[in-house]
Amino acid sequence: MFDALQDRLGGILDRLTRRGALTEADVSEAMREVRRALLEADVALEVARTFIDNVKARAVGFDVVKSVTPGQMVVKIVHDELVKMLGSEAQGISLAASAPVPILMVGLQGSGKTTSTAKIGRRLQTREKRNVLMASLDTRRPAAMEQLATLGKQTEVATLPIVPGQSAVQIAKRAMEAGRLGGYDVVLLDTAGRTTLDEALMAEVVEVRQATNPHEVLLVVDALTGQDAVQTARAFDGALGVTGIVLTRLDGDGRGGAALSMRAVTGKPIKLVGVGEKWDAVDEFDPQRVANRILGMGDVVALVEKAAAEIDAEQAMKAAERMRKGQFDLNDLKGQLVQMQKMGGMSGLMSLMPGVQNIKKQLAGANLDEGMFKRQAAIIDSMTKEERRNPDVLKASRKKRIAAGSGTKVEEINKLLKMHRQMADMMKMMGKAGKSGRGPLAGL
Ligand code: GDP
Repeated sequence: MFDALQDRLGGILDRLTRRGALTEADVSEAMREVRRALLEADVALEVARTFIDNVKARAVGFDVVKSVTPGQMVVKIVHDELVKMLGSEAQGISLAASAPVPILMVGLQGSGKTTSTAKIGRRLQTREKRNVLMASLDTRRPAAMEQLATLGKQTEVATLPIVPGQSAVQIAKRAMEAGRLGGYDVVLLDTAGRTTLDEALMAEVVEVRQATNPHEVLLVVDALTGQDAVQTARAFDGALGVTGIVLTRLDGDGRGGAALSMRAVTGKPIKLVGVGEKWDAVDEFDPQRVANRILGMGDVVALVEKAAAEIDAEQAMKAAERMRKGQFDLNDLKGQLVQMQKMGGMSGLMSLMPGVQNIKKQLAGANLDEGMFKRQAAIIDSMTKEERRNPDVLKASRKKRIAAGSGTKVEEINKLLKMHRQMADMMKMMGKAGKSGRGPLAGL
């Protein structure tokens, strides 16, 4: 599906990595080409624009890492932003609810809904070892019910016996009851589709949702319909609230834009992709893997990651050395703040620094959020080199200047300085304890 895009992007990025130096104009030119390639692959305009803006913003200010060329660094940034655009983490179907877990399958007719239902049933049964019951709620098309029954036989997944004359809600209730009585873990409810979105269809699905309170509402969309697929997803989500998307026909030769825009436009994760007609032709959607495939630059990305990890380790060693000597300055604090942000918050850092109980308590009350890390980093960024090295020189007028420069308040600067002082004192103490042979963490 992504072949054409892969060729284009591969060419553009390959040229970048071959150059020694890069100017801002070089990066801009390359990003214009990337943007064009994305649009030609049918990526939604807004998504392509945001993507390019994000890459450019990061590409302007990045630190060039030793042993990596600027071009390689840009490839890594493009890769990271692509992964982010695709949803960052692979997300499977959630079964974290009491059994039988109801899962509602919705989508337009012909999107691959019934096939996907059987694929998922089979997958949950074989991989997750769950006992699955499938039921077709398509009261208007008896053939659809028969189709699910046939697929059930082929995949060896149980299906609810067909009782003619029941409404969709009645069948759904009967399926849940059968699920309970039969000791099933999961009940897959395959709702009726229509060739176009219409109110009657939505009303019926909404009614079924209310009657069964599904743990997942999975929308099945056909990747080959391009931006229409994205619009369909938007409409279903607006009317119904979906929890995840199953994107079918990724084995087709579409341009791929739907797959690439879906997450960013709808905010809903692509949980699975269909890659063929057979019932085992289903895969998880892993943003990392998809990005690697599209860029075909896995080795460059790995190289940059390795170099960055080495730099982190080197900086951490240096910081640790200074801490031991009682020289923990505001530069080091900034380094710590950046690390905290990377690790997703204070709890991560604190778990690595046992014995920091008093600071931990103080910070716990300080409403820690990402915004605060950013403001604190901005405060330190607004200081001169001398101020960072020797915070004692920070008197009222300097603090005012820093507050103005960082868009914060003097109080926040005072809080930060207090935190720094406490951390520095504690580290000095730990350093001394280390020298006396008790080890920095002795007695904790
Ligand atoms: P429904 O009307 O939404 O229930 O659609 P069906 O499940 O009946 O699927 C319609 C057609 O699409 C069938 O011929 C399926 O075999 C085919 N199909 C479903 N998913 C995929 C897929 O991921 N790849 C390919 N190539 N065909 C698929």
